[in-house]
Amino acid sequence: MADPITTVGRPGLPPRGGNPSTRHQGTNPGSFANPPDIGGPRAFSSPDTPGMPQPSDKTAWDFMPSDWTLRDGRWTPPEGFVPVTQLEHARLGNTTPEMTRVAEREPHLTPEQVRDEVAAGRMVIPANRIHLAGALDPMAIGRASVTKINANMGASPVSSDTREEVEKLEWARRWGADTVMDLSTGGDLDATREAVIKNSSLPVGTVPIYSMILGRRVEDLDEEIVLASLEHQALQGVDYFTIHAGVRREHLPLVSQRLIGIVSRGGSILAKWMLHHDRENLMAEMWDDICQVMRRYDVTFSIGDGLRPGGLADASDGAQLGELQALGELTERAWRHGVQVMVEGPGHVPFDQIEYNMKLQRRLCHGAPFYVLGPLVTDVFPGYDHITSCIGATAAAYHGASMLCYVTPKEHLGLPKREDVKQGCVAYKIAAHASDVALGIPASRDWDDELTKARAALNWERHFDLAFDTDTARAYHDEDLDVDTDFCAMCGHDWCAVRISKEIAIFVSGKEEAYAWDKPKVSAALTDEQKEILQRRGVLSPSELHRLASKTRESVGASEGKGACHSDFADSNTAREIQQQLDPETLEPLAGEDVRAAP
Ligand code: SF4
Repeated sequence: MADPITTVGRPGLPPRGGNPSTRHQGTNPGSFANPPDIGGPRAFSSPDTPGMPQPSDKTAWDFMPSDWTLRDGRWTPPEGFVPVTQLEHARLGNTTPEMTRVAEREPHLTPEQVRDEVAAGRMVIPANRIHLAGALDPMAIGRASVTKINANMGASPVSSDTREEVEKLEWARRWGADTVMDLSTGGDLDATREAVIKNSSLPVGTVPIYSMILGRRVEDLDEEIVLASLEHQALQGVDYFTIHAGVRREHLPLVSQRLIGIVSRGGSILAKWMLHHDRENLMAEMWDDICQVMRRYDVTFSIGDGLRPGGLADASDGAQLGELQALGELTERAWRHGVQVMVEGPGHVPFDQIEYNMKLQRRLCHGAPFYVLGPLVTDVFPGYDHITSCIGATAAAYHGASMLCYVTPKEHLGLPKREDVKQGCVAYKIAAHASDVALGIPASRDWDDELTKARAALNWERHFDLAFDTDTARAYHDEDLDVDTDFCAMCGHDWCAVRISKEIAIFVSGKEEAYAWDKPKVSAALTDEQKEILQRRGVLSPSELHRLASKTRESVGASEGKGACHSDFADSNTAREIQQQLDPETLEPLAGEDVRAAP
């Protein structure tokens, strides 16, 4: 029998999913993930490593309200029933404006596919009716859609205020957050929540138990307080609630063997309440009442993982997986009430156990979207946990997560500031986008292809315009060489492989008009934001920064009568001289050289 490795003319390729590039650009054969299977339990899924849990054979259709009846293959609600939630509309076959909007934002899906995924419980549209009447722009979370990221914010008792939180919201939106969670535990919680919702086009989530215990002892929490708080926050327009109802008394003895116990605030509060009252979790006891409040406003569940591991040593243990089983049962009950559900997940998980965790959730929760925090794949890099966790998040999204909760460099250390929010968002956009490309989601690689073409053409302006963080890319480039020419300072003129390749081969990319680049030109002066990026790096002297931020065409020898610096040109030799005459250590001009002012 022929060996496929040797008969195809190149190493054999594993079964492939769809091609993430619309025009199949380049030579990449396409995704190695499973075929798309939109409408099935394996939509955009990774091939299973042997031994992985298989998808559930049930969906939300198997957990219908007890008073609905199945007639001629169609579910019929009781007389006088008025659909409220997206799930109820989907069950009735209604395509809502929100489903249409989701399909507009994700053109690889039709409104009907969105509806059917919502009906199956594999997709949620977190859209409280109150927020929907305000600033909310509907979006979806689910495996058939692109991977989403959440940014947490919120005042603590020692830091931040309402104005700062609204600024952080805008900052998170600018850096690509798809939803935000207001996790305030200090300041004026009510005012902060209200301001965030009013100003947010993104869905807003909260952990309502934080405000329930403000000003009272945990032990004093009761049914009346729970329902009143949920009603109040639902009325304010919160789109999804994290409720830690999966922590059960039977799990608590399992936690005692852990290295770090319970690390979820909500989980620890409810564990304390259970022990004090010698009762089952209050949220679990009240689940049906809670569902009814949430249904009235179409608040989506984000069922909390109160027993998530807080270190690699406690990952995939009995407490965590026992809670996950309970989360599956809560999902089934919420669906029976017509409430949309996503499920939260860990935390800190060794890289080798991420796939199992994702696929076990898919099975136990019947495909309900999984919303995971990280997970961090090592514990020993505090200050860099946006990186340790975005590595885990990439694997999680590839293997089954639908939304990634960002982690910032301040994780475990303090309340994130604006720059931390940016760093967390960027890290998680990388994780989400990398996973979407790997899964073969249609058009997800088009952006990469465009940037590759700009890079191949040495078209720096287009390169930076396409970059996720234009300002940082431009500033880093100009720090060493403020001329857009046919090389950069990384390798230098004589060693620039891209330039040499252009000389020896004809590329399809780089020949298109939009990418054509025919002569070196002086880049524009740095903007304030770009200047600030370089100031923070602290590599250049103040005078050098000033020059980059205020350079004019005269400073690079542009001839009289020409336009602004965007259209000024420096020839290739001048660019090379500029680089050669910089001190490689300090990036200052070498003694006696005034290279940048030379004509
Ligand atoms: S000099 Fe090096 S890094 Fe810069 S464009 Fe050329 S090959 Fe790329």
